[in-house]
Amino acid sequence: MSIPDYISPIIGYRVWQWVAAGLKSLNGEPWSPGKPLAAACRASNRRTTVGRAEPAHDANDAPQEKCRCGVYASKSREHLRTTGYERYGICGEVNLWGTVVEHEQGFRAQFAYPKNLYLPLKMLPITLAEIQSRLQALTLYGSDIFVLGNGETISLWGKDSGFDPAGLDYLIERSKRYYDRRQQDRTLKKGDRVAILGQGIAVVERADETEVEALLENKTILRMRRNDIAWNRQNMRWEAEVLAVILR
Ligand SMILES: [Zn+2]
Repeated sequence: MSIPDYISPIIGYRVWQWVAAGLKSLNGEPWSPGKPLAAACRASNRRTTVGRAEPAHDANDAPQEKCRCGVYASKSREHLRTTGYERYGICGEVNLWGTVVEHEQGFRAQFAYPKNLYLPLKMLPITLAEIQSRLQALTLYGSDIFVLGNGETISLWGKDSGFDPAGLDYLIERSKRYYDRRQQDRTLKKGDRVAILGQGIAVVERADETEVEALLENKTILRMRRNDIAWNRQNMRWEAEVLAVILR
């Protein structure tokens, strides 16, 4: 095995933790926006603290062929998937340059910088405002950002073009679907409880689009207009501020 000096970058694949400040390696090492991550060997430190004889070399002269140092990357996304790394964070392509040691499945590089990032849909918040605020730290890297939809890869942000309308549309649609589904879950139906101001909790007996009948604990049946009953997000319950008609 030789250690060639690559002039143009090699592309590898990595998984990062996506934290508030940006990207971190799975082992916790932070990646700074706009600055290549330079490999530093820790074998020489380890030797002095543990007293074990390891093949020490200049920490900044990494990676070395007979060491384990360097910035790691896989040769394929498939490899990250089959080894299970993918589910620990966000995946992306990474530019590798300087000294690059090649292995069967991957590389150890002297310098590395994310080329692009693929965000799994489930890691994104629901509203566009939250998504944009969450993405702010990532855009500082200037790497292209994609969303992994259901089998699709959708462009979301580019260094020169900013947010991609196609990607935003996709996320807006997703957000709408989410709220529609939530709304459906919140259709008032038989058995639901409604907090009625001054009366207590009533259990819905019958509900349609215009009228609701509900039974209070004291067996009184109340009839209310459907429009007077609203879902209170904070209290997580149905509430009505009405003088309900008492049926019995
Ligand atoms: Zn080393």
